[in-house]
Amino acid sequence: MKHPIIALKHIDNLWFQVTGTLCNIACAHCFNGSGPGVKTFGFLTIDRVRDELETAISVGLKAIFFTGGEPFLHPQLLEMLRLSLDAAPTTVLTNGTLITDRTADELAKMERGTRYSLEIRVSLDGYTEERNDAIRGRGVFCRALDATRRLSQRGILPLVTVVRTWSEEEELTTLAGFVRTLRQAGYSKPRIKILPSLPLGRELTRAQARVASAHSAVASLAREQENQQDASLARPADAIPDESLLTEEMLVGFDLDLLMCSNSRLVTDRGVWVCPLLVEMPDARLGDRLRTAVPHYELRHVACTSCYHYGTICGNVSAQIEGPADATTAPDFSPARFKPSVLSG
Ligand code: SF4
Ligand code: SF4
Repeated sequence: MKHPIIALKHIDNLWFQVTGTLCNIACAHCFNGSGPGVKTFGFLTIDRVRDELETAISVGLKAIFFTGGEPFLHPQLLEMLRLSLDAAPTTVLTNGTLITDRTADELAKMERGTRYSLEIRVSLDGYTEERNDAIRGRGVFCRALDATRRLSQRGILPLVTVVRTWSEEEELTTLAGFVRTLRQAGYSKPRIKILPSLPLGRELTRAQARVASAHSAVASLAREQENQQDASLARPADAIPDESLLTEEMLVGFDLDLLMCSNSRLVTDRGVWVCPLLVEMPDARLGDRLRTAVPHYELRHVACTSCYHYGTICGNVSAQIEGPADATTAPDFSPARFKPSVLSG
């Protein structure tokens, strides 16, 4: 099947996978399979960051993102942020567990001294310790909440990112639970962003396991019912059906600016990738450096279809849940307040 080809119009957003796939925790849904000791991608040097920044600035860069792995594992992250904040608004995607009082002091000082904004996104996957740590690992809940408190006390209001792992029926209670938990932890005006779960990285492995289990269950059911000649039971639905891939027809009249590959690039130690979502896909590597990277890409992955459905899913466009000061009153959770996104720290 032929899929649509997208051209880079301009580099508005530059992403640095600054610590590669090294992370101090291993979340069950990690989209790029990061974790302790995972070195599929390595650390970027500060010289590389400086060089790519210069290239991007020369063509009108508008925003910069630092991701990983866990960015705060990089010993020169703060130095890199200073470089970055000289050029454009900057965001760090983090799990928050390494943000000490001293790091929070440095970030606050940096934020006060720059004309550009510094956004810290802290990931959380449950509003109770039990729920969160089942996904992100033991002890992560308390450390992430500590980070939100430390930052907010210093005037940085972190954006708490949450991957959706609950049903529609649980939506209101879950979101109210997050607001309540954050306020109780000392973050009085919590900002929350909901991210869809994507079939990528470790989440893909989990999805495949679910499919394999469905295959096995249906096969056994089919065996039991072989006399009933019900062929449809022997064909479980794929988690990723072919028809979910993008076609040129689907993009007729679609605003391509909503796809980050039209205006963003990811820099890794192994080259430049079309976007952070496809960092595990070899075909998404476009070249060694920004200045020599290929400007076109064929949208042939399931993640591309998610982008098509969700719009600007990785950018810094974010809905805020700003509930009333009284934590017992329900905040405004109307759909208009949300815009989904994908990447988490
Ligand atoms: S995953 Fe999304 S951002 Fe990446 S190439 Fe596909 S459409 Fe573009
Ligand atoms: S989701 Fe973020 S914090 Fe969790 S393992 Fe992946 S990179 Fe680390």
